[in-house]
Amino acid sequence: MTHPAQPKASHFINGEYVEDTAGTPIPVIYAATGEQIATVYAATPAIVERALSTAKEAQKAWAKMTGTERGRILRRAADIMRERNHELSVLETYDTGKPLQETLVADATSGADALEYFGGLAASLTGEHIPMGEDWVYTVREALGLCVGIGAWNYPTQIACWKGAPALACGNSMVFKPSETTPLCALKVAEILIEAGAPAGIYNVVQGMGEVGSALVTDPRVDKVSLTGSVPTGKKVYAAAAEGMKHVTMELGGKSPLIIFDDADIDNAVGGAINGNFYSSGQVCSNGTRVFVQKGIKEKFLARLAERTGNAIIGDPMDEATSFGPMVSENQMNIVLGYIEKGKEEGARLICGGKRADKDGFFVEPTVFADVTDDMTIAREEIFGPVMSVLDFDTEEEVIARANDTEFGLSAGVFTNDFSRAHRVIGQLEAGSCFINSYNDAPVEAPFGGVKASGVGRENSKEAIKHFSQVKSVYVRMGDVEAAF
Ligand code: NDP
Repeated sequence: MTHPAQPKASHFINGEYVEDTAGTPIPVIYAATGEQIATVYAATPAIVERALSTAKEAQKAWAKMTGTERGRILRRAADIMRERNHELSVLETYDTGKPLQETLVADATSGADALEYFGGLAASLTGEHIPMGEDWVYTVREALGLCVGIGAWNYPTQIACWKGAPALACGNSMVFKPSETTPLCALKVAEILIEAGAPAGIYNVVQGMGEVGSALVTDPRVDKVSLTGSVPTGKKVYAAAAEGMKHVTMELGGKSPLIIFDDADIDNAVGGAINGNFYSSGQVCSNGTRVFVQKGIKEKFLARLAERTGNAIIGDPMDEATSFGPMVSENQMNIVLGYIEKGKEEGARLICGGKRADKDGFFVEPTVFADVTDDMTIAREEIFGPVMSVLDFDTEEEVIARANDTEFGLSAGVFTNDFSRAHRVIGQLEAGSCFINSYNDAPVEAPFGGVKASGVGRENSKEAIKHFSQVKSVYVRMGDVEAAF
C-alpha cells in the first residue's frame, strides 16, 4: 500500500504535478523508524528546463498584477495552510522526523505567517518622488525576475515559504529545490498557492541533489538565488551566482555564543540554552551551541540543566507528548555521534547524554559537555545536532572576545538582569540575529540572517523586500535639453 506521505509526483511545474522517472530515485526515509516511506526522482535536464522556462514566462503577467491582487492570493494561501495545519504538520514530521509537538506550532504556521505578512506588504511596495526644481525623479520598486530558492532539510515548509512569500509579493516567480533529504513539504506549498488562486508557473518545485541546484544557479535566465545551507555550499553557490552577476541571499551555518552572566535568572537561562540547543534535536542554524557561563554560577547552572534535560521525552514523533525526536537522517546521526566522540577524546566533561538512544530510528540523546575550551573541535565546528558545549568565563571583556573568535556570525544571546550590560555586550557581538534574555525566536516581522561567513542578506521583515526587488530611477525633465553642441 502506498504510504500517505508519498506525493502524487516528484515535481510541481506550471500548476501541476509532473513526473519523470528517468531521474535518479531519491528514497524518502522516515527518521523515527528508518523505513522508506516514499520515493521521488531527481529532476532531469528536461524537467529543469521546463521549470525555468515556465517560471520565466509566468513572471511577466504576475509582475503586472497589482500588489493588492498578489497579496490577496498569498493571504488566501496562508489561510489554507492554517486550516490544514494538522495534515501539513504530520507531513513535516514524516519529512524531517521532528516531533509533532514542534511541527504543529513551528512549520506550516511559520510558513503561513510569512505568506500573510508578505501578502500584507505587497500592496505597499512603492517608489518615491524626488523633486529637482522644475524637474523630478521618481523611483519604481521592480521585481528582480526569476528567483531560485534552494533549501536545507531542517525546516522544509518554512524555508519554502520564507523564500517564496517575499519573492512572490514583489512580483517575482520562483523555482524552488528542496533538500534531497526532505523533498515532500515544498510540493504542498506549491499546491496550496495554486488552490489560493496563484497563476500557474509562478512557484515551481523541482527535486534533486546539488547537481540540480547547480544547474538552476548557473542558468542565465535566473536573476536571484536564495540559499539556506552550509557555509561550504554557500561559498560554491555564491561564486556560481557571481559569475552571472546574480543577486544572492545566503542563510548559512553558525556556531553562535549564548552568554550567561552570574546575575541571570538561572531557570530562564537554562530554558534559553535548552531551546537554543535541543529544539528540533539541535538541527537549527541559529543555535547557541557555545554556552558561556560565568564561573560563579557554573555548577548550579549545570545541575539545573542536567535535571531539566533529563525531562526530555524521547520517542515516537507522532505522539504529541514527545518533546525530542531523531536526527533527520542516518548520515546526520553519524556526523553528530562522531562529534560526541571527539568531545570525549579532547577532554570535555560529559554531563548528560553522549550516545545514540536505544531506539529504532536515528535518535541521539540530548548531550551536554562542560569544561569545553575554545580550541576543542566541538566548540569550533557546527555540529547541527543536540550537542551543547558549556564554556566558563570570568569577565565581560574576555567573553566578548572569545564569543567573536569564530568565522561564523549568525546569532548571539545574552542572559543577565543588568540591562545596560545586556545592550553593551550585544552591541559588541558580531552576529546578525541577537537575543536578550531569550533565544531562537524568529518572528516574520524581524530580520533574520548572519554576518561574516554565516551569510549575506536578510530574510523576513521589510528587509527581505529589499533583497527580492530593485529600484529603477527615472529623471523627468520639464524644460529644454541643454547640450554643449
Ligand atoms: P547543504 O549546504 O548541504 O545543502 C543545502 C542545499 O543546497 C541542499 O538543497 C543541497 O542539495 C543544495 N546544494 C548542495 N550543493 C549545491 C551546489 N553546488 N549548487 C547548488 N545547490 C547545492 O546543507 P544541509 O541541507 O546539510 O543543511 C544544513 C546546513 O544548513 C547547516 O550548515 C545549517 O547551518 C544551514 N542552515 C542555515 C539556516 C539559516 O537560515 N542560516 C537555516 C537552516 C540551516 P542536496 O542536499 O539535496 O544535495
